Amino acid sequence: MSELVIENLSVRYGETEALHDLNLEVASGEIVAVIGPSGCGKSSLLRAIAGLEPLASGSITLEGKDLAGIATHERDLGLMFQDHALFPHLNVADNVAFGLRMQKQKQKRAKRRARVAELLELVGLEELAGRSIDALSGGEAQRVALARALAPRPGLLMLDEPLGSLDQLLRQQLVAELWSMFAELEVTALHVTHDQGEAFALADRVVVLRDGEIQQVGRPVDVWRDPSSAFVARFLGHPNVWGGGSSESDSSQSDSGRSDDSNSSDSLSDDNGSGDGSAILVPISAISARRDDRELDSALSAADLERSVIVQQVQFIEGRFRVTARSEGSTLCQMNVGPVTVVLDMIDEPEVGSRLLIKLDHRQVVAF
Ligand code: ADP
Repeated sequence: MSELVIENLSVRYGETEALHDLNLEVASGEIVAVIGPSGCGKSSLLRAIAGLEPLASGSITLEGKDLAGIATHERDLGLMFQDHALFPHLNVADNVAFGLRMQKQKQKRAKRRARVAELLELVGLEELAGRSIDALSGGEAQRVALARALAPRPGLLMLDEPLGSLDQLLRQQLVAELWSMFAELEVTALHVTHDQGEAFALADRVVVLRDGEIQQVGRPVDVWRDPSSAFVARFLGHPNVWGGGSSESDSSQSDSGRSDDSNSSDSLSDDNGSGDGSAILVPISAISARRDDRELDSALSAADLERSVIVQQVQFIEGRFRVTARSEGSTLCQMNVGPVTVVLDMIDEPEVGSRLLIKLDHRQVVAF
């Protein structure tokens, strides 16, 4: 059974339509991440579910109950926000107990205490029960916020950029912890983040939002391998997306030379035989490269030129060399996309200015 059912939801602020006719279901025990650039409507979605924003149209149902007319604190939600929103005048245990005191059906004190102890153990903070909130590290405060949100066993846990304020290492560690905790507790959660890495690591399914509308919904692997549009591909962080309009997140776009070149747009659709031919994605995993050590003055054949790129920049990232290179011909591995900037990974370090010959696994190429 679906835990959360959102039908035809629109949210407006005056003239601005923050969410437009949105439909989404989250099954019981499922973690769904909502991702998208700033201003796409992520917070509006959470606020509408929480009852903090009126619905311009549509409905939201949780565990079969229409939430219209139900006050925020009676909606059976657990909320965890980026800024923790912990109470500074209460210690760790009292912060966790707060959610239990707010419940409609009050529990006996001893039962509440036992539940608080259980939650603190779950998040690994049993030693810090009496500590003041001011004396916690960022990661500890985040765990207290999680324990507080989970304490009343909410029907739906809503996470709004929960790890946004933490450093990279701590984020990775907490993502792993959250993942095993959610699996153990069979939590149903809606997780909002601008960080696709965090979303992919935690979620069973991801929803990509743009301008208040859903662009794609699917398992992380499917959305990554088969994005529905150039926008989704770029937002997920694929660097080799050529055509399909410009994007803030794609630095290679400005010099791709595609957007104002109608001829190559035609060529794209001819060459790839699918999609509308307006954009193409070449995942990094589809590109293999090797050095071309031949003398520079030796004549390159047309076929060589088609596979040839010149190294422009090399960065060492996660054990591999991330290489930014420029294609030499106007055709790259039988695709009329160039001259374009190509990003690829190599085990061996190439020299800036050197020539590489690249090969594409065409099965991984996506045309939009
Ligand atoms: P996100 O959380 O993805 O950054 P939001 O839901 O905050 O997006 O915002 C969606 C759209 O609604 C944006 O265009 C934003 O400017 C607008 N918006 C959000 N809150 C308000 C508000 N209180 N008044 C007017 N416009 C708002």
